[in-house]
Amino acid sequence: EYKGMSKGQMMEIRRQNCNPVTMKITYYKKPMFIHQGHMQWLWDVDGRRYLDLFAGVATVSLGHCHPKVTAAAQKQLKTLWHTTNIYVHPTLHEYCEKLASYLPDPLKVIYLTNSGSEANDLAMLMARLHTGNFDIITFRGSYHGGTQQTMGLTSNMPYKYPIATSSGCTHTMCPDVFRGPWGGSHCRDSPVQTIRDCSCAQGCCKAINIAFIHTNLCIITVTKIIFFDPTGHCMASEQYIGQLKETFATSVPSRIAGFFAEPIQGMGGAVQYPKNYLKEAYKLVRERGGICIADEVQTGFGRTGSHFWGFQGHEVIPDMVTMAKGIGNGFPIGAVVTTPEIAASFGKAYHFNTFGGSPIACAVASSVLDTIKEDGIQQNSHNVGTYLLTELAKLRDQHEIIGDVRGKGLQIGVEMVTDKVSRSPLSPEAMSEIFEDIKDMGVLIGKGGVYGQTFRIQPPMCITKEDVDFFLAVFNKAINNYVDRK
Ligand code: PMP
Repeated sequence: EYKGMSKGQMMEIRRQNCNPVTMKITYYKKPMFIHQGHMQWLWDVDGRRYLDLFAGVATVSLGHCHPKVTAAAQKQLKTLWHTTNIYVHPTLHEYCEKLASYLPDPLKVIYLTNSGSEANDLAMLMARLHTGNFDIITFRGSYHGGTQQTMGLTSNMPYKYPIATSSGCTHTMCPDVFRGPWGGSHCRDSPVQTIRDCSCAQGCCKAINIAFIHTNLCIITVTKIIFFDPTGHCMASEQYIGQLKETFATSVPSRIAGFFAEPIQGMGGAVQYPKNYLKEAYKLVRERGGICIADEVQTGFGRTGSHFWGFQGHEVIPDMVTMAKGIGNGFPIGAVVTTPEIAASFGKAYHFNTFGGSPIACAVASSVLDTIKEDGIQQNSHNVGTYLLTELAKLRDQHEIIGDVRGKGLQIGVEMVTDKVSRSPLSPEAMSEIFEDIKDMGVLIGKGGVYGQTFRIQPPMCITKEDVDFFLAVFNKAINNYVDRK
């Protein structure tokens, strides 16, 4: 019982009064009743403590009820809540100037929203208005939002309704070097290698399973081909770019409006693209009149560790960046940042948003930026994330059902397979068994991937090496338990 209400009553209210469809995706078999949080910790109504390694889908970036952010919100609550955007309030201007200083030229014009979906919706509109074109390309497996427009961008079936959503969105092959037809360990910018090193004399080939031929083209099986170039150049990237070119040739007009990509996929399962892919893709999109949009809703604000923004890891500068989630450490705020030139194309009508850029949202988001700096959050994400990735790669080498460990900083995916040879996705039932077991041992993580086959670790970025050690022991035990039961 909590505040006079039993769990049964809460579930009944949920069934009757609150978005009952979410009952289907309630994260655990037995729903979690969470009522309190502090930094990387959550407590349920029975007083049980959990180590939160998912942060409400990479949202509570700095920690639950982070004292500095909470203090900033409280201070603003006592001063001014909300005046709509018809007046000028200093909090908004202080924040926009600060946020702009984190972005490279010419990305200096900011539109504040309340969510990631809203930010991407606005970005779609701006891309179309600016270019005069209509077609937009995203990756299969991507998630960009749940409004009717952004649902068209999203390519993740459980989140799509069987009606016509926005038209003009085409999904190209996701350059996934683990599950896709082309791959290779040099392809990703990650401290861990995808595929175990082979012991060939050149030390160049990566063996998935069977034999390979020592040439620039290593043939592993009929279906799995790993390209390797001794200079370290990723040849898989060119193959996936070939797929993008095929999309241009077959599915969209010669002039396009834009191309959306998450720097590392989130809901898709922390999929990382081969190095150079985005650089080349941006070039091709711009040649066709389109603009390039980085969806940093999950990857921004230091999550990838090495960089403040995920796109920086790809050595590209987008024409537009969308952000949400971590921007407010869990407080609802989102943003579109773009160039003055694109913003100018957006001046023909009023763009009004009652809550976007409210004083509280701006005070919170401003404090988030300060705290990232003061608490060394990005560096911690890099250090702890690299340690976690390295240790997870060791577990991958011990367990047949861990197919892939990938990511950067604290944007991490662990892809589960039935076995390393077939790489068939582990079944949803098996995933659920392991997932529940991990929760029962006191750790919360996430799930994702097109087949729900990838565990996702995207914690508040304040976690420590000790937290990681605890999680690794729990994860190892949950896998052993699963294997023992089989
Ligand atoms: N883009 C990405 C990459 C996301 O992960 C999400 C949410 N999961 C969104 C956009 C949509 O954000 P929101 O739920 O705030 O609308």
